[in-house]
Amino acid sequence: MTDRCNLRCRYCMPEGGVVSLGHDAILSYEELFRVARVAVELGVRKIRLTGGEPLVRKGLLGFVEALAKLPQQPEITLTSNGLLLAENALALKEAGLARVNVSLDSLRPERFAHLTRCDALEQVWRGVHSAEAAGLTPIKINMVPILGVNEDEIADFARLTFAHPWQVRFIEFMPLSPELEYSTEQLYPAANIYADLQKIAGLTEVARQGPAGPARLYQFEGAQGSVGIIPAVSEHFCRECNRLRLTADGQLRPCLLAPQEIDLRTMLRAGVSDQVLAEQLEKSVAAKPQQHHLDKGDGTGGRHMQGIGG
Ligand code: SAM
Ligand code: SF4
Repeated sequence: MTDRCNLRCRYCMPEGGVVSLGHDAILSYEELFRVARVAVELGVRKIRLTGGEPLVRKGLLGFVEALAKLPQQPEITLTSNGLLLAENALALKEAGLARVNVSLDSLRPERFAHLTRCDALEQVWRGVHSAEAAGLTPIKINMVPILGVNEDEIADFARLTFAHPWQVRFIEFMPLSPELEYSTEQLYPAANIYADLQKIAGLTEVARQGPAGPARLYQFEGAQGSVGIIPAVSEHFCRECNRLRLTADGQLRPCLLAPQEIDLRTMLRAGVSDQVLAEQLEKSVAAKPQQHHLDKGDGTGGRHMQGIGG
């Protein structure tokens, strides 16, 4: 939706931020809608709105409403840092949003403030609870454990699932750029996350519905919610990945962690037909690599995560 953000998470953005895309560089809502409509006509059934922080883009509600009204009724979801969620949750639900993933990396106010460079943990919690009250459920919490930074909070996050019917997902830290604060040595691998979870209580694997999600899901005995591990780096779930990403500036990416992009913005502005757009979407599915090459440094092609969507 946008490359802009109201936070500066240390693992995602450099302190000074990044040079924001100009107004003309980002796709208009009409252009975004057109790509989404063609994708849905081809069989895409799930659209996730992300960024940057999607809730900082004006007019998002109207866009959600338009997507939700497509006759194929795709599922519309949002990934947000939660800062603007409290005041938007109900309207998002009414517009047709199905549910929300909230990114939260520490439950300790001071650590949260350090990690995000913003003292706003309470505001995010208000957002989570408002989203739940509005029925944007099941709530999913995304936590990125980083060694020596917040990996000691894995158990605290996991225990939230005893009291709440939430899905708490641990995403492996992806060391994407030397410009960012944390290094490859601070990657906290999926195997360690799993070992930490096993120490808490009996854990059973939850059967996954279809191939769509990258999370391995588990549930503690007696818990209301579930925990998930997304082994983005250490294990390749690339074979099962069916996602395409469209950046705010109109570049279609077959893979989060591969630099290849198809320039839809130029095509849209040159007036191509729906047929050509459909061919490009199909081409980008075919171009999905067998596996990512993050370990070889061939990652995001110079973009930070806030420019791709995570
Ligand atoms: N601003 C929204 C948010 O934070 O939820 C949406 C965009 S953010 C780029 C999407 C997801 O990417 C977040 O869950 C964030 O934690 C994750 N992310 C960002 N940088 C990451 C990194 N280096 N490694 C792993 N996950 C990362
Ligand atoms: Fe913004 Fe999300 Fe990146 Fe944090 S992770 S800086 S909230 S885009």
